Amino acid sequence: MRLVMLGAPGAGKGTQAKKIADKYGIPHISTGDIFRANIKNGTELGKRAKAYMDQGALVPDELVVDLVADRVKQADCEKGYVLDGFPRTIPQAESLDAVLKDMGQKIDHAINVEVPDENIVKRMSGRRACVSCGATYHIEHAPSKKEGICDRCGEALILRDDDRAETVKTRLSVYHEQTQPLIEYYGGQGCLEDVDGTMDMEEVFAAICRILGE
Ligand code: ADP
Ligand code: ADP
Ligand code: ZN
Repeated sequence: MRLVMLGAPGAGKGTQAKKIADKYGIPHISTGDIFRANIKNGTELGKRAKAYMDQGALVPDELVVDLVADRVKQADCEKGYVLDGFPRTIPQAESLDAVLKDMGQKIDHAINVEVPDENIVKRMSGRRACVSCGATYHIEHAPSKKEGICDRCGEALILRDDDRAETVKTRLSVYHEQTQPLIEYYGGQGCLEDVDGTMDMEEVFAAICRILGE
């Protein structure tokens, strides 16, 4: 089962992608997590990506396309995967399709988690992230057991620099300009599924499971 998560920043793509990955036993591939891990480890890729990320801009396609192409060819992706945060532009989607076509594969479902812009800024200011293991929390909707500490790995949680209100506004306009066209792109392929992302996390997940089949 090869899935793509679509939706605005903060719509809940990562939250749902992790649940899907757990339930169906497939890897969760988050390009944002991959970049943040590279920044934390001081790699060349991290250094190049950071300036774009801090501004709320997209990292150039050439820095992300090969990375994902290599990742989906790894052995653990044989039964499928859930892509979160990729593709984010039409050229990224076209590159992914070309890579999949070469392997005789295709995307089975593109799940579009719909949340209006008004809800997003509020959601993001409450998000707390663990850069060590990729876990995500929300101070009201999904708090960690111990404030500021990751339940899974014990590291300190952060408010991402790019989750501050001004940067979130930039990210939303980048989303509408560059990523939203993917809704039509996957609609045209007949694999688009819309889900109401304003419900509770568990309700959103139940809606996704109905689409995927229990
Ligand atoms: P969110 O989950 O809030 O939408 P992500 O963690 O997916 O945010 O991405 C954080 C940042 O990483 C983006 O704003 C962008 O700068 C960069 N990024 C992640 N994935 C991609 C991608 N596929 N193409 C370009 N930039 C990306
Ligand atoms: P994305 O990956 O799309 O950027 P996340 O999954 O990181 O979004 O969710 C953004 C923030 O909103 C996180 O703090 C998360 O805990 C919270 N969140 C996710 N889904 C919901 C929901 N259905 N209702 C309320 N808060 C949510
Ligand atoms: Zn952690």
